Amino acid sequence: MKKDFAVTQLSTGDLLRAAVKSGSELGQRVQEVMESGALVDDDTIITVVRDAITQLDASSGFILDGFPRTVVQAEKLDDMLTEAGSKLDGVYEFRVDDELLIERISGRRVHPASGRSYHIKTKPPKVEDLDDETGELLVQRPDDNEETLKKRLASFHEYTAPVIEHYKSKGILTTFDASLPPNEIYDQLKVALTK
Ligand code: AMP
Repeated sequence: MKKDFAVTQLSTGDLLRAAVKSGSELGQRVQEVMESGALVDDDTIITVVRDAITQLDASSGFILDGFPRTVVQAEKLDDMLTEAGSKLDGVYEFRVDDELLIERISGRRVHPASGRSYHIKTKPPKVEDLDDETGELLVQRPDDNEETLKKRLASFHEYTAPVIEHYKSKGILTTFDASLPPNEIYDQLKVALTK
């Protein structure tokens, strides 16, 4: 993504994981919630996103990943952007059945420092459990186990699915079939983003 588009990616999951790792007050407050598979409360997330947007150079645009996850967050985001004299250009949904998602996420291994991600079956590293570029150890996210995933999916269906309707009604939603291979989806995304 970064090699094709000169935009900043802002991932709320990454921001929260960094806070947990640093042991900050925010990190200590959200760690248990994240590990349980529940959503962090709206006020906390909105503050995190507001701070992050204020700090970045938004002139070249940015991509929000993992946010908004509730209708309240979506409405607050609309307000924040309106206040800043801006608006969302597009919203992109990557749709995949729960069963396939569980298979993909439970086999995911990540290299925390770079964000590179692997899959034990479909995209294994050259050497088991080691990052291809640095040789450092790969880890499994504590919430990437089947039990927690089921809770994350339940949160998705209850709180996040309505966000899709929110943007559909605004006419800015594009949906991709994310069961396709990653390179095919990425090609489709590039076409959509350059429109
Ligand atoms: P992710 O990396 O996007 O899968 O997020 C990991 C976890 O961080 C989620 O399961 C939630 O506990 C929390 N989280 C990330 N983004 C949000 C959000 N927008 N609203 C609430 N919780 C979030």
